[in-house]
Amino acid sequence: MPEQRTTKQLIAIQDALKGAEGPLTIEEIHSAASTQVRTLGLRTVYRVVRRLQERGEIVNIPVPGGSDRYETAAVAAKHHHHFHCTTCDRFFDIKGCVGGLEALLPEGFRLEHHDLTLSGRCPACA
Ligand SMILES: [Zn+2]
Ligand SMILES: [Zn+2]
Repeated sequence: MPEQRTTKQLIAIQDALKGAEGPLTIEEIHSAASTQVRTLGLRTVYRVVRRLQERGEIVNIPVPGGSDRYETAAVAAKHHHHFHCTTCDRFFDIKGCVGGLEALLPEGFRLEHHDLTLSGRCPACA
C-alpha cells in the first residue's frame, strides 16, 4: 500500500477521534473517517486504531455489554464521564464530576477509582 494513502487514512481516523463528542466504536470511527477517505475499509480502521493505541495517542474505553470505544489520550487525561444515549447508542463526554462519593463508602473502605456512565436520551433522540 502506498505510504501517501496510508497517511491519508491515518489523518482521517485521527480527525474522526479528535472531532468526536464522545468515545467512538470502530464502526463509528469508520463512518466518520469515510467522509474524508471514501475507500476506507473497516479492517484498515482496526489496524490504524491498534497502532494509535500502541503509540499512546488513543485509549480504549471498555463498555460492559457493548463494543469497545476509543478516545484521544488528551481527552482521557482529564477526569470526565460519559453519557450513553440508549436510543441511538452513542456516547457523549460529560465534563466534571459529582464530588463526595467517599460518603457512600462503608466504614473502613477507601475510594481509589470510580467509573460513572449516565444514561438516557440525547437531544436528537429526546
Ligand atoms: Zn441519541
Ligand atoms: Zn468522576
